[in-house]
Amino acid sequence: MILVTGGAGYIGSHAVLELLNSGYEVVVIDNLSNGALESIERVERITNKKVIFEHGDIRDSAFLKYIFSKYAILSVMHFAGLKAVSESVSSPLQYYDVNVTGTLELIKAMSTAGINKIVFSSSATVYGEAATVPYVESMPRGQSANPYGASKGMVEQIFTDLARADERWSIVLLRYFNPIGAHESGDIGEDPKGVPNNLMPYISQVAVGIREKLTIFGNDYPTRDGTCERDYLHVSDLAEGHVLSLSMLKTPGLYTFNLGTGKPISVLEMVLAFQRVAKVELKYEFGKRRDGDLPAFWADASKAKELLGWEAKRDLAAMIKDTWNWQSKNPNGYNS
Ligand code: NAD
Ligand code: UDP
Repeated sequence: MILVTGGAGYIGSHAVLELLNSGYEVVVIDNLSNGALESIERVERITNKKVIFEHGDIRDSAFLKYIFSKYAILSVMHFAGLKAVSESVSSPLQYYDVNVTGTLELIKAMSTAGINKIVFSSSATVYGEAATVPYVESMPRGQSANPYGASKGMVEQIFTDLARADERWSIVLLRYFNPIGAHESGDIGEDPKGVPNNLMPYISQVAVGIREKLTIFGNDYPTRDGTCERDYLHVSDLAEGHVLSLSMLKTPGLYTFNLGTGKPISVLEMVLAFQRVAKVELKYEFGKRRDGDLPAFWADASKAKELLGWEAKRDLAAMIKDTWNWQSKNPNGYNS
């Protein structure tokens, strides 16, 4: 049985779906601060399989003790956390509390229960502001521009020290690039609360008429068309990468993988591709640069291909088609 923390969230719900389809039994814990129970119910409907759901917080040691004593858990996928970069600047303590203290509580509860296999949701942000592109796992982590990124780097350091100190642990750090898209059914997807911070949910809300127009943050970057370039990957590819990464947990040690396509796409290219694939017109304007944005970064994804047999299969058109399918079927997300 696999414990999935944050399994009612965007990436977690897609991972739960792929785990069930691969024959795993899943227990989800989530405090629903940014997730939806409805996503779990829909995953059950899509897969025709059951998910055990327990409502609770990863910082609550008594809750974690209860979970590990009640269920025969063999390994953990740890998605629970806070992820809004700008909010992390205004509420740093909250971010360190959930992302760092929450992870420490989880590790302690796992240790007490004798469970030492974990896959952690890290981020390309840990490469920092000075890294050269494409990012390769062998590069050192760098300085992060915000508490969100710093919290991911701290947790990676905690896991690195733990793997060094205790050779029973098997730890996989998955550094995600920019996950977008939704399950092909259009029944689960990204459902941000309030104004989206990220590009793709913002674009799809403009497309569906919730927002008037997209502001492209900066068109004077040293890139092909002056807008920032990122490595967008389909969330279902990312979820499949998680299932494949479980094979690494058989051998103790610390393993780090980039999960990306290796192909940078600019903001303007994304807008034009969305208009073409979804056949909608998107109003947009060019605005000021957003603080802390890097001009361009993408993955060297060859290590995941070599060791996990993982490669992103879905192209940009599929990412857009599935985003649009989800957004048009559920204009107000899970509350539609
Ligand atoms: P999400 O907010 O949709 O999912 C996170 C889930 O964790 C939510 O369901 C939320 O309710 C839950 N949660 C938050 N705090 C909790 C707590 N204290 N106790 C229990 N549950 C809690 O985010 P997501 O996009 O699915 O991201 C999942 C993970 O991947 C996060 O750790 C995030 O930092 C990381 N990540 C995301 C991206 C991205 O672009 N989405 C990129 C890199 C890394
Ligand atoms: N972006 C934008 N307008 C928006 C949201 C994002 O131009 O309303 C740009 C942003 O500046 C960045 C890219 O889109 O260059 C991806 O941003 P996102 O927040 O999705 O991902 P991240 O910054 O974490 O790579």
